[in-house]
Amino acid sequence: MIDLKSMTPEELAAWFREQGEPAFRAKQVFQWLYRGAVSFDEMTDLPKVLRQKLEEHCFLTAPQVARKQVSAQDGTIKYLWRLSDGNCIETVLMRYKHGNTVCISCQVGCRMGCAFCASTLGGKVRDLTPAEMVDQVLFTQLDSGEPVSNIVLMGIGEPLDNMDTVLKFLTLVNQPNGLNIGMRHISLSTCGLADQIDKLAQHRLQLTLSVSLHAPDDETRSRLMPVNRSVGVEKLMAACRRYFQTTGRRISYEYAMIDGVNDSDWQAELLARLLKGTPGHVNLIPLNDVEESPLKPSRRVAAFQRRLEGHGVTVTVRRKLGGDIDASCGQLRRKAMAQTLGRNDGRKEADIP
Ligand code: SAH
Repeated sequence: MIDLKSMTPEELAAWFREQGEPAFRAKQVFQWLYRGAVSFDEMTDLPKVLRQKLEEHCFLTAPQVARKQVSAQDGTIKYLWRLSDGNCIETVLMRYKHGNTVCISCQVGCRMGCAFCASTLGGKVRDLTPAEMVDQVLFTQLDSGEPVSNIVLMGIGEPLDNMDTVLKFLTLVNQPNGLNIGMRHISLSTCGLADQIDKLAQHRLQLTLSVSLHAPDDETRSRLMPVNRSVGVEKLMAACRRYFQTTGRRISYEYAMIDGVNDSDWQAELLARLLKGTPGHVNLIPLNDVEESPLKPSRRVAAFQRRLEGHGVTVTVRRKLGGDIDASCGQLRRKAMAQTLGRNDGRKEADIP
């Protein structure tokens, strides 16, 4: 069966041509997809025979809302979507002055194993398809009635571990007849897969690359992020420098502040030294408390920020949105799974009510 929404307009045109259909049919279908059509019957400007043919050969993805939580504090909306195979993923809609941003997932679970992150606790189940990524933007917009102007790939999963799909997704959301979201309105966050950063650089995209650094020294970073045991801070920073040289885009370094682990003065000093000579900026993130984790939020965010700024580093501190609705990544999926399934009884996410 053909996954129509994972196809670019060019691929759709080629497919319709192969079927002996005129090119404008591909355009009509593309528009229906981005209006959120969930069945071919809705595509009323297509001849009935064509609709039947599509029904036979193709399918349309449409996630169902498994849970929806709206923050009373700031209007942040968190969706837990149920996909067609019963797996669940999360999307968050955040409202900022400069427009609405959706934070989307790229995998069901994650295999990176970061010690502070709820998304990785059950490992990776599977990659998402381009359509399942597009659907998060599309159906968040349709369900909430809020237009989306920015996308951040900071939900569940590691984007550079599902790179071809992510690249396709970027092409799709860019389409003027579809979501029409420009690259400069998109951020992609990675745990720091150096080789993949090099590959991404070759595409010279205008998006913002965020690198989850979280520690400037190998000992701490390897403890927090298993990926560092093979890459290492030095190799990662070298890839970041190459990325900047190739794309001309400044990198944003994410740094979740963890009590007594990565928040000491010497680490601020070392971080400032690492960033010397590479334009970039540091985004300090107050750690979200994950129940299963012994790591706790730092109490030294302001002091750490001042020390970095003392060395001329540009620093922002992330404002916390949706704190009352488990808005940070992976937490709602975990909770829903745990509540319904007990911890480990092997039942599937499809059983989440
Ligand atoms: N896999 C990608 C994107 C998903 S995570 C990455 O690692 O960047 C998005 C961001 O949230 C990352 O910077 C991640 O390290 C951070 N994060 C994960 N769990 C967190 C927590 N409990 N508190 C604060 N930030 C967290």
